Amino acid sequence: MSSDLVIVYHRQPYEEVEENGKTVLRENKSPNGIVPTLKSFFGKVDHGAWVAWKLAEDANDPGWEPQIEVEDSFGSYSVSRLPLTQKQVHEFYHVTSKEAFWPILHSFKERYNYDPVDWPNFREVNWRFAEAAAAEAAQGALVWVHDYNLWLVLGYLRQMRPDVKIAFFHHTPFPAPDMFNVLPWRKEIVESLMACDSVGFHIPRYATNFAAVVQSLMDVEIAKRAKVPDDLIAEGTALTERQVPSILRGPNGSVQLSVAPVGVDVDYIQSRARENATQARAAELLQDLGDRKLILSVGRTDYTKGGIEQLRSFERILQERPELRGKIQLMHVSVSANRGMAAYGEIQSAIEEAAGRINGRFGSLDWQPITLVSRAIPFKDLVAYYRAASVAWITPLADGMNLVAKEFIASRVDGDGVLVLSEFAGAAVELEAAVATNPFSDRSMDVAICQALDMSEPERRDRMLAMQRAVRLYDLSSWGQSIEDLLPRHQKSAA
Ligand code: UDP
Repeated sequence: MSSDLVIVYHRQPYEEVEENGKTVLRENKSPNGIVPTLKSFFGKVDHGAWVAWKLAEDANDPGWEPQIEVEDSFGSYSVSRLPLTQKQVHEFYHVTSKEAFWPILHSFKERYNYDPVDWPNFREVNWRFAEAAAAEAAQGALVWVHDYNLWLVLGYLRQMRPDVKIAFFHHTPFPAPDMFNVLPWRKEIVESLMACDSVGFHIPRYATNFAAVVQSLMDVEIAKRAKVPDDLIAEGTALTERQVPSILRGPNGSVQLSVAPVGVDVDYIQSRARENATQARAAELLQDLGDRKLILSVGRTDYTKGGIEQLRSFERILQERPELRGKIQLMHVSVSANRGMAAYGEIQSAIEEAAGRINGRFGSLDWQPITLVSRAIPFKDLVAYYRAASVAWITPLADGMNLVAKEFIASRVDGDGVLVLSEFAGAAVELEAAVATNPFSDRSMDVAICQALDMSEPERRDRMLAMQRAVRLYDLSSWGQSIEDLLPRHQKSAA
């Protein structure tokens, strides 16, 4: 079937669950998150399609239908599932994307691993995604592609279908040329990105870096710059920009650079936070804490998230401020998303070792300074923790956006709570009222967490109010608006 909107995203738009020995598709439980937002765009066109990969033992004979029509609360849409073998997924996703691209995107040159990359496999997988998108797209359709593991889809798709509109969104940071150009495939990647109509980023800095990378590799001019809106300027913080390139003009036409910070579904999170069950759970947690303050840290186990640096800061403040012993408790949630990858296993061990050391050094029978959680906490429970925490301590060394910070703010329907946020999280440019910290500086880390713990209630409330306005301004629906202009003109026809 021909679709006016084709979304290309590595993950399928539903959960696959086993029921009585059969695989059934179930709508994602939580409407919070990117997948439901993307699907909501299907309601704006006559017919939509989604392209994703699905594991197959034999890519030529997967044993399931590659092409299906799905009906859920977003209507009816096609899903094109590319059969990929375990080996292909490993090469394309775990090696090329996670070992080569991911460290560079987050400016960790020393973690970049070139040797195992199978570039022909990466090209092939991206080519197949492009073929699937080309087969789905109606004349003049919009194809919206997501994230760096699909960088080459854009150029291939442009060759196959000059008529379609192509938009791409980076869910990660985008680094400056000194860093990006470490990738030997830089020109091929940038040429592919320049085949888009629109390339999207969370914040102005990433768009600025992208323009600089393109200009280092090709004869391209910045045809238009825009002033950065005040609400994306956090005075003096590391990621703030004043101006941003908005149109690049190259040999093959113009590319629009769009800045759209991904947000959260504020209404949904607030309604969850107000639910009786959540309130009761939060009250129970507060009762267990007694006169202790809960410091909450939530993230994936990843060297970019700065877990070790944070635990060291916690150890220092317990050492230097003995009056805090027994009065604060750190819940450090570090969820392993990439089990089996050496880099992540090492971080996990280092976190466990540091937490064990600190608990051994300062803990007693009735007080463990750190509660380490390595399993994923369901979102509904997370909201109760957000509500019970005195401080959310979010200190990544690099992070495209950081939704946990925004979720914490949206959950605080009581108007209290302090956010300590790394200057190197994209969200920092929106959240000027957070306590900003530089995770590369011990002193900055220690001062910021102490400032948060010592903050008066009126100041906490003032800052929370300002942050809630910011989170509401760039919420999940405003993120989606950035693509609206590129949807085919006729949009949904009258029934
Ligand atoms: N999350 C969760 N349970 C956990 C830890 C995280 O549901 O135990 C969710 C969290 O609510 C957030 C997402 O995982 O929506 C993490 O997004 P973020 O942008 O903070 O970080 P990323 O993992 O995308 O780098």
